[in-house]
Amino acid sequence: MGKHEHPACAIAADLHSHSTVSDGVLAPREVVERAANRGVELYALTDHDEVSGLAEADAAAREVGLAFVHGVEISVTWSATTVHVVGLGIDPDHRRLRERLARVRSGRTERARQMAAGLAAAGIDDAYEGALRFVRNPELISRTHFARHLVESGYCRDVRDVFKRYLVAGKPGYVPHQWAQLDEAVAWIADAGGVAVLAHPGRYRVGELKLQELGREFKEAGGTALEVVTSNHTPQQMRQFARMAQEMELEASRGSDFHGPEESENVELGEVPPLPPGLIPVWHRFT
Ligand code: AMP
Ligand code: MN
Ligand code: MN
Ligand code: MN
Repeated sequence: MGKHEHPACAIAADLHSHSTVSDGVLAPREVVERAANRGVELYALTDHDEVSGLAEADAAAREVGLAFVHGVEISVTWSATTVHVVGLGIDPDHRRLRERLARVRSGRTERARQMAAGLAAAGIDDAYEGALRFVRNPELISRTHFARHLVESGYCRDVRDVFKRYLVAGKPGYVPHQWAQLDEAVAWIADAGGVAVLAHPGRYRVGELKLQELGREFKEAGGTALEVVTSNHTPQQMRQFARMAQEMELEASRGSDFHGPEESENVELGEVPPLPPGLIPVWHRFT
C-alpha cells in the first residue's frame, strides 16, 4: 500500500459472491466460513436478485467473527444488454426491496421452460428437469443451473463451454429476458439504505463508447462505485476501469464473484488482486 492510499485499502475485502440462494454451490453459512478461513476480512454475500440468504450468512459471520456486509446483485437490462448492479449495505428486511426483487425473479421459471424448449430443439431433452436438480431456491433457476446439468450429462466439458455453445445470444438455449431498469435498480438499493456498484464492467460485450455511456447513466442514477477488481478482469482491464472510476468520480469495489470451489470460471474467495492505486475503496463505508 502506497503512503497516499486510503487506509481502508489495507483490508482484505471480498464484496461479491454467491450461495445456493442463487447460483452458488455452497450454502450461505458455508460461504461465510470459507471466506473467513481464506483470510477475507470484510465479506459481502451478493446473490442474484435475492436477499433471503443474508440472515443465515450474517449469523454465521457473527459466529466466526467476520465483518459482514449485506449485499445483492440485481439483474438489469440496459440498452438491450444484461448488466449487473451490486447493492452493498442494504437493509435485508426492507419490505419494498424484497417485493421488487421478487418481481425481478418472477419471470425466471417461464424463461427456463423456454430455454429447455430451445435445448430440446437442439437435441437435448429434459434440460429443465435436469437443471432443477441443481436448484436450491425454486424462485431462482438460472443459466448456471442448466450449465451444470449439461456438464454433468456429458454434453460439454465445462460450464464455460456450455455458455459458449448453448446459453448466449444466438445459441439454442438462449432466451432474451427483460430484467430491471438501470435507474430503478440503483434507486431500490438507495431506498434500502445501500450503495450501488456497477459489477464486472469488463464482462459486457459493448464497445468503449457504450461503456462510457453506461457509466454515466449509472452515475446519474445515483450509483456510487465501479467494480474495478473482479476475477475475470485482465490487468489491462483493471487499469482501464481504475481510470474510468477516477474520471467519473466513482469509488472502487473488489470482489471474487465466487460461485463455488469447483467452478472453473471463477477464482477462490478473496483471491483477487488489490485495487490499483489512487482509488477510494467503497468499503471505507463499512469499516
Ligand atoms: P442468468 O441470471 O440466469 O442469466 O445467469 C447469469 C449467470 O450465469 C452469471 O451470474 C454467471 O454466474 C453465469 N455466467 C454468465 N456468463 C457466463 C460464462 N460465459 N461462463 C460461465 N458462467 C457464466
Ligand atoms: Mn452467477
Ligand atoms: Mn454478475
Ligand atoms: Mn455475481
